[in-house]
Amino acid sequence: MNDRPQTGRAAAAPAELGREAVPVTGLRARAHEGVEWLEAGGDGWRAVFSTRHGGVSRGPFATLDLSYAVGDLPERVTENRRRLAAVTGFDAAALVVGRQVHGTGIASVGAADRGRGAADQRHALADVDGLLTGEPGLPLMVAVADCVPVVVAAAGRDGTLRVAALHAGWRGLLAGILERGVELLRRHGSIVAAVVGPSIGPCCFAVGEDVGRAFERQYPGTWHDGRVDLWGAAVRQLTDAGVAESAVTLARACTSCDERFFSHRRDAGRSGRQAGIVWIKAAADGDADDS
Ligand SMILES: [Zn+2]
Repeated sequence: MNDRPQTGRAAAAPAELGREAVPVTGLRARAHEGVEWLEAGGDGWRAVFSTRHGGVSRGPFATLDLSYAVGDLPERVTENRRRLAAVTGFDAAALVVGRQVHGTGIASVGAADRGRGAADQRHALADVDGLLTGEPGLPLMVAVADCVPVVVAAAGRDGTLRVAALHAGWRGLLAGILERGVELLRRHGSIVAAVVGPSIGPCCFAVGEDVGRAFERQYPGTWHDGRVDLWGAAVRQLTDAGVAESAVTLARACTSCDERFFSHRRDAGRSGRQAGIVWIKAAADGDADDS
């Protein structure tokens, strides 16, 4: 493994949890066998945010496009997912994926949903922008190319985990998808980590006045010079929902500025998708990995 310098700050142990601190790591940039990704995780769970590097797709999808829904050749997407899974440790055949609609629908999934959307888009869960599970070994994926991928993990008093992957574009953010995800997880336990992945930054997210005003109303200070700070709004929504600030990790990687990522805007609407993927490690995974 070729560890590159850290991206973002390392999250401190969450104060909220108190009684049994679950160690949370910051977001790290990693590369293996040509595949590059950012990674975070804690005791028993892992989150991966892919880049565009290390896959087999061509043209606007070059190279690590993970979506069957954007016009790329399916066999290339399958190979890209296989490559990412192989170097990061999730089961590509078990992936659960939603057909995202910029809404606030969050599906709670279990063993019966294993592989929904893993091999094609047709079997992905309809009208779903968030996925949540307590099932070990079931990787949840949201696909993005500017929108904000957020991964949240919660630990119950009995030590069991729940994780969620949330897709938050500007519509979903204003509609409260992160708040909704945190609420669902807090029914189970304390939030141990929330990771805001690579997405379009306050440097680049130019919006019309209507959108700007809507953000300014809901999250004062997030609208500047015609641009909206989705990162700031996401962090505020998470902390307003009860996530301790110390548990939040922000990638601070702008998909439009940073050539490592696909960007719907920079690439004029024709691009591949990177993904935020989270899973609870199966018992057999052990803790022998190098995370
Ligand atoms: Zn930017």
